[in-house]
Amino acid sequence: MKLLFAASEIFPYAKTGGLADVAQALPAALAKQTDVLSVMPLYDFIDREKFALTSMNESFQITLGKDIYEISLFEGMNRGVRTLFVHEATLCHCITPYGNKNGDYPSNDLRFGIFSKTLVIMAEMFKIDILHLNDWHTALAALWAKEVLPELPVIFTIHNLVFQGLFPRESVERLGLSEHYFTPEGIEFWGKMNCMKAGIAYSDVVTTVSPTYAKEILLPEFGCGLEGFLQVHTSKLHGILNGIDTVLFDPLNDPALTKHYSAEKLSGKKSNKTLFCKAHGLTDADKPLIVFIGRFTEQKGLDIIIEALPKLLAMKLNFAILGDGDETMAETLMSASKNYDNFSILFGYNESLSHRMYAAADLLLMPSRFEPCGLNQLISLRYGTIPIVNDVGGLHDTVRDIDDTDSSICGQGILLSTLSSTAIVKAVKRSLKLFASKKHFSKISKSNMHCNVSFEESSKSYLKLYRKTI
Ligand code: ADP
Repeated sequence: MKLLFAASEIFPYAKTGGLADVAQALPAALAKQTDVLSVMPLYDFIDREKFALTSMNESFQITLGKDIYEISLFEGMNRGVRTLFVHEATLCHCITPYGNKNGDYPSNDLRFGIFSKTLVIMAEMFKIDILHLNDWHTALAALWAKEVLPELPVIFTIHNLVFQGLFPRESVERLGLSEHYFTPEGIEFWGKMNCMKAGIAYSDVVTTVSPTYAKEILLPEFGCGLEGFLQVHTSKLHGILNGIDTVLFDPLNDPALTKHYSAEKLSGKKSNKTLFCKAHGLTDADKPLIVFIGRFTEQKGLDIIIEALPKLLAMKLNFAILGDGDETMAETLMSASKNYDNFSILFGYNESLSHRMYAAADLLLMPSRFEPCGLNQLISLRYGTIPIVNDVGGLHDTVRDIDDTDSSICGQGILLSTLSSTAIVKAVKRSLKLFASKKHFSKISKSNMHCNVSFEESSKSYLKLYRKTI
């Protein structure tokens, strides 16, 4: 079976979030069991030399609407997976995948239309048995595949339903799509073109990244306006839990860490904490260290953390935040950091710093309003950092509340009783109590490190689904 796995970002070439991690780790796990080709755009910011990407001397033209686009293909290897790259000027001329400070690029309809149409040509060119699309950037390929390769099985994965790829009605013509698709059953959404709907409507199978999120998106609270549409397609909807690449996220071998450690030799974790606190101006490294890593958005509950901040920082703990996003949130955090010596705010996207934070921290705070799967809590389990999470989506499927009678169960953390600043303060107080009972804390931390958070099991579920679809 030959699989073409397509995504708009794959680590380490481009990453804005969990999609890139999954688009690297899942194909790597699948490649042990079947023939896999991954594919993504060759954005201008990708260092071709560093990643040893070479031209395949393969170029062709595609047509969208009235215009013709010149495509050329490149290739490289990533964790044992042959990875193909699509180059086209409109698609690839950018400094980040989707936008800049002023918002999303206005040409994203065209950019990802070009990518999606190219995927269908590639499916034919490489004699693919199954096409796996991820998120809205690839979703139009499902529609075009049904037109030109109706026999090709297509599977579409929703990584986050919030990002749907909404564009003005005019995009339909711009992309050369037939008007008959512009209906509520097709890609129309409140007068706009919705790419995500193409993936849902025209794929044979739709998956999302955790069993709980698969149920939640059928409800108005989590369905982002697509709950009714998803209910129509519910018979082809499946939830398969994400994993992480446990070779890349491995405290025993992680090149970002100066001190390595394992569940059997946990003392190195403390050294990471001491180093981190020293480097970031946090005094008294004996205090528990809590971290938040992620996008500054309401999804991640950062606004609620901000509300709880004065009470949190009055406790005997250190708190560090790494991330980027909403400017008002960033400014509030910046000014708070000036008033507290137990709070450090680190702006930007920094892969190795994030690894050092997972290693240094005792606890990870993740009060997401909704969470399709979430990788941070999986990484923190792997690094022996106990997660404090809201009981929602993939967090519900991967973290269970601490069992005082049995510290050997893996995947233990602290669940918020509800989503509020009061509940966060309460949960953090509880975590400090746990931290004070050192033996119990380290027992839980060690059992969490033994959890299987890899893609091993989930890749088997995907394979089963591919075979069934074919
Ligand atoms: P998202 O909704 O953003 O995709 P996930 O939990 O699925 O969230 O995945 C987030 C991934 O991005 C994790 O690998 C996390 O460590 C990483 N990450 C998030 N913010 C940053 C940052 N500022 N610097 C480095 N890595 C980050």
